[in-house]
Amino acid sequence: MNKRSYLALPLTLMLMLVTILAGCGDKETSAPAASTAPAASAGAASAKPAEPKIDSKTLDAIKKRGKLVAGVKFDTNLFGLKNPANGNVEGFDIDIAKALAKKILGDETKLELKEVTSKTRIPMLQNGEIDIIIATMTITEERKQQVEFSDVYFKAGQALLVKKGSPIKSLADVKKGVKVLSVKGSTSAKNIREKAPDATVLEFENYQDAFTALKAGQGDTLTTDNAILFGMMKQDPGYEVVGDTFTEEPYGMAIVKGDTGFAGVVNELLKDLKASGQYDKLYEQWMGVKPSK
Ligand code: GLU
Repeated sequence: MNKRSYLALPLTLMLMLVTILAGCGDKETSAPAASTAPAASAGAASAKPAEPKIDSKTLDAIKKRGKLVAGVKFDTNLFGLKNPANGNVEGFDIDIAKALAKKILGDETKLELKEVTSKTRIPMLQNGEIDIIIATMTITEERKQQVEFSDVYFKAGQALLVKKGSPIKSLADVKKGVKVLSVKGSTSAKNIREKAPDATVLEFENYQDAFTALKAGQGDTLTTDNAILFGMMKQDPGYEVVGDTFTEEPYGMAIVKGDTGFAGVVNELLKDLKASGQYDKLYEQWMGVKPSK
């Protein structure tokens, strides 16, 4: 052996050792990362593993803008109601919107609340005026053709609100000659026409207008989701919810059709809120009762 080959042996061994060690290191750092994530760059051992990129046009637009634009109700006590005293919009849906802004942008105030009604919410989403609808919206097969829904985040059912002492005690009393008040674009208006086909249905632009009409004696009963009606009862205890609920109204948040990446982000938020106990806290804060399991 010449001088070179004496040197070459330990060098080869060393190289082998380095390769083996590097291989071990590689395994350790790459194992927890998703297989689709790009490998962490060399020398960045302390950096967080890159999060897999979520494919969502809505999410990209929100991040670029630095603000989430949520379509919410301004007329629905307990869910989204503009407080005339301070101009703030308040309710369960509003708090969910804040939590979503926090999840996406790290700050719940990076949020713009735009008023929607039952009739305007889907067109506003489709026009790109809002990123998401968080507005007492029932998931239905018909609406699924037009929007992408999150998982269910609230369970309601349609009921009747009457002035205390009214002869109307349940759906069976909603017959010919009875005037029912409801809101345009809601499942409530559609359902009541099917369930009480002989009654007269009057439709308003929003829930506060419908409630004002009930109080003015323009109708005998107001129908929509029980949770919304409880909100009205709170505003005026001269009114009460009667009878059983006669439909199921599971609420979902709605986003642009096809943006399943963003639906995933919203569903992850719901899971986070439930796991941390914040969902139950918000529910109890607004509804006055614990959510039924
Ligand atoms: N949840 C029902 C609906 O989506 C009634 C409440 C509302 O009009 O938003 O139509």
